[in-house]
Amino acid sequence: MTCTVCNFPLSAGLSAWHRTCRRCAYESASLAIAINDAAVHDVVDENARELALRALRQQNFRKIVALAREHAAPGARMLLDVGSAHGWFLEAAAEQFEACGIEPDEGVAQHSLARGLPVRVGFFPQVLDAGERFDVIVFNDVIEHIPDIRAALRDCHARLPPGGTLVLNLPSSQGLFYRLSKLMARLGLRGPFDRLWQVGMPSPHVHYFTPDNLAQLVQGEGFSLRHQSELQVVSADGLWQRLTMVGQVNRVSAALQYVLIRAGVLPLARLFPSDIMVCIFSKR
Ligand SMILES: [Zn+2]
Repeated sequence: MTCTVCNFPLSAGLSAWHRTCRRCAYESASLAIAINDAAVHDVVDENARELALRALRQQNFRKIVALAREHAAPGARMLLDVGSAHGWFLEAAAEQFEACGIEPDEGVAQHSLARGLPVRVGFFPQVLDAGERFDVIVFNDVIEHIPDIRAALRDCHARLPPGGTLVLNLPSSQGLFYRLSKLMARLGLRGPFDRLWQVGMPSPHVHYFTPDNLAQLVQGEGFSLRHQSELQVVSADGLWQRLTMVGQVNRVSAALQYVLIRAGVLPLARLFPSDIMVCIFSKR
């Protein structure tokens, strides 16, 4: 197996399914994808996940919409959100763009449709009409799940006009929490590492990029890098709700965790690279 970014032979990683590139630091996982497979799907309580992530996601999505507007052509209007999940990005983008979504998970897509959001059920780009074009294409926590990422980038290139905008929001392997998870995995504690790759989930991660090797990959498919920055992965917003939302909660323990995270983890995390990056490219 060779590196998706630079074609260098991949080396063994920290697990039987994990490979790394010694030349460009790209990481890959040979984990099976089982979207719409009921047996795997039961593992995830979608409602609990939705609530836990909401405040931080919405805050980050507002920042991404503002960045997309800033870097898109002045008249850019049609926006495609690939893997629109619960539709929060579509809602955030609605003031600035005419936004529509694609979501492969039928249950999740039906939930968005019930709320009146313009979502199509299926995979990118198969679910699109042959001639459909967009000014902006966005992948929020999606591109790292797509095995043939180069094909997905070529499909984006084909659906954008010259100067069209590609927005990728995805995990960064430079992030503090991912690097800590690798350290722990080397010490035999595999839980956090497996969780960050989403092992056992319907659609686990199959790639982990640094800002540099991602830019190298996307530029190789006919795009120019316009912007790269980090987004917060932990936030004080909604923290108390996240700590107290699940079933029987010991409020003393929740209060202690709240103080520990606000006074310890949050300030510490800000000293290191974040685990989320947002990268904006334009079609050459
Ligand atoms: Zn490489």
